[in-house]
Amino acid sequence: MSKLAPIETRPLKMMSIDKPKIKTKNGLLLEIEACGVCRSNLHLIEGDWKKYGSPSQLPVVPGHEVVAIVKQIGSGVKNIRMGDRVGIQPLFSSCLECEYCAVGRENLCESAEITGESVQGGYAEYISALEEFVTPIPDNLDSEHAAPLFCPGITAYKAVKASEPTAGGTIGVFGIGGVGHLAIQIAKMQGARVVATSRAKKHLDLAKKLGADNVIVYQDSQEQFLKNLKKEEGLLDSAIVFAPSDKVIDAAIRSVKKGGIVVLGVLGNVSNFPTFEEKIVKGSVIGTRKDMADLVKLAANSDLKVVVETHKLAEANEVLARLKKSQVEARAVLVP
Ligand SMILES: [Zn+2]
Ligand SMILES: [Zn+2]
Repeated sequence: MSKLAPIETRPLKMMSIDKPKIKTKNGLLLEIEACGVCRSNLHLIEGDWKKYGSPSQLPVVPGHEVVAIVKQIGSGVKNIRMGDRVGIQPLFSSCLECEYCAVGRENLCESAEITGESVQGGYAEYISALEEFVTPIPDNLDSEHAAPLFCPGITAYKAVKASEPTAGGTIGVFGIGGVGHLAIQIAKMQGARVVATSRAKKHLDLAKKLGADNVIVYQDSQEQFLKNLKKEEGLLDSAIVFAPSDKVIDAAIRSVKKGGIVVLGVLGNVSNFPTFEEKIVKGSVIGTRKDMADLVKLAANSDLKVVVETHKLAEANEVLARLKKSQVEARAVLVP
């Protein structure tokens, strides 16, 4: 992509570019098998994130949930071999030395590189990566279903962890798409009661199918929504928000009990914060390398269902246009 523009103008162009080169001893060159299509790719392409300095250069290849096969390795690579199948997440690299990296919170590193934004991403045939930041994928996970683990999956996993689930406690998941459909299942695995909320019936049906204990339609009248919630469930112990809306964030804060936890996995504003109810609002962004490895293990050893629809890479513009109109059930994946 050479120019930021609305997706309807088909800004993504197929072009031939040089294969990435291994630049460091820990570098890898990989052939891509699948890449998930993320709402943040859409924001990037349409220029919504120019104000945050992203992408840092043009042209850029978007895409940051990638499964690929290792084709070449740098001279210092120790733990990854030729032919390994690995996943690459949005956190392409971090400095590994700063105060965040030193305590295993490298997702907060100030000098992190982001796949598909500050370095070339996965809407391509080849990609480069660094040994320390890839996660091997067990044989029982196929590439198309494994790819979404590397952004929505890890985002869901970390947000559920941040919501401090307890057996028997009730967690509300606000927004059921690529991330929410996985958060429901991961929260269920922790023994929590899960209440899913979305505007779209299609998404609520999916939530039920994936094991949500109850679903409540989100509606513009916040009072009505809260009334329905209180009647059916009472207030929640915690809430996780994946719907990028200030109103939904506000509704989620009002939906939890005093002292309850609200985890925000999206950008948005907190208004009317009820200070004297001792609620806790936490931000959550992707996850660490350890979270990633833990999630891949969990996915391989459970019946976590990653709901995908697969398309050819050449259809990226159309797929993103459908995502913009909320026409994708859970996650679209592109294959070269
Ligand atoms: Zn993503
Ligand atoms: Zn760092």
